[in-house]
Amino acid sequence: MAEMTTNRTTWAHMTQVVMLRVAFRCLWNTPLSGPRNMSQSSLAGKVAIVTASTAGIGLAAARALGERGAHVVVSSRRRAGVDEAVAQLQSQNIRVTGTTCNIGNQGDRERLLQTTLDQCGGVDILVSNAAVNPFFGNFMDTTEEVWDKVMSVNVKAAFLMTKLVVPHMAKRGGGNVVFVSSVAAYQPMQGLGAYSVSKTALVSLTRALAPELAQSNIRVNCVAPGIIKTHFSAPLWQNDDIMDGVKKQMCIKRLGEPDEIGGVVAFLCTQEASYITGETIAATGGIGCRL
Ligand code: NAP
Repeated sequence: MAEMTTNRTTWAHMTQVVMLRVAFRCLWNTPLSGPRNMSQSSLAGKVAIVTASTAGIGLAAARALGERGAHVVVSSRRRAGVDEAVAQLQSQNIRVTGTTCNIGNQGDRERLLQTTLDQCGGVDILVSNAAVNPFFGNFMDTTEEVWDKVMSVNVKAAFLMTKLVVPHMAKRGGGNVVFVSSVAAYQPMQGLGAYSVSKTALVSLTRALAPELAQSNIRVNCVAPGIIKTHFSAPLWQNDDIMDGVKKQMCIKRLGEPDEIGGVVAFLCTQEASYITGETIAATGGIGCRL
């Protein structure tokens, strides 16, 4: 009798252990349940092109992707900037390839892609970060030349670069595209009329591309930074009058840092964001963003 009770207790204990093991395995293998694991935030084995990535937000995005294990391809117009960015990322143990590329030039875009394919074997991630703003002033004083330049670099080149990389992402079973828009997409900034319109277009480009590219397992998302301390935004943050006005709209009463945008970009490219597409994430210190 005593032996039967012991056997029953042992059997019950073994059953419990097996059930616990099965439950634990399920939690571990189901991406949307249970604690986060390293593999969901890892980008090991991925190749990421980040345009305009030798300074500011682009460089921070490249670093954030590289820190998660991606091989990053950095580029900009000036060779010296490329060499500096490559050296900086290498010193942080990031796998990096560098090349020059003026994103407004079709030949340069094709060369950027070809260099990536030749040196990294494929591409999984595109961060389309390049933008220009050649004019600051009354919107109605915007010339056709300025309008064409802004739309050509900020919107058309972003689309054409995406069009170039998508077939190569599809070949590898999927990928991620992230556009860099701006708070100005939602609240057009005084003096930055055409630029603001171009950034609103990127929010729409994101939404318009997402359904079509989902068929190739490619997610398309966008980040809208607030005012981030970089060379590009110096005319804003060096102007006390402008900053007094902007600070009133911020919940977090300080400028953003490039790394605070880089992390959002990288998150969107990981498995942690596997159910997010067609979305724009505002990282503005709380400045309201609504169209
Ligand atoms: P940044 O620090 O001034 O860096 C600009 C980078 O772009 C540099 O690497 C520059 O290198 C490169 N670049 C400029 N024109 C290029 C072109 N035609 N082709 C390729 N590379 C080019 O600028 P940022 O503030 O990081 O801005 C990056 C993105 O964030 C832009 O899309 C901008 O609209 C957006 N954004 C910025 C802020 C902000 O407050 N900083 C806010 C919202 C959105 P070269 O000079 O060597 O080409």
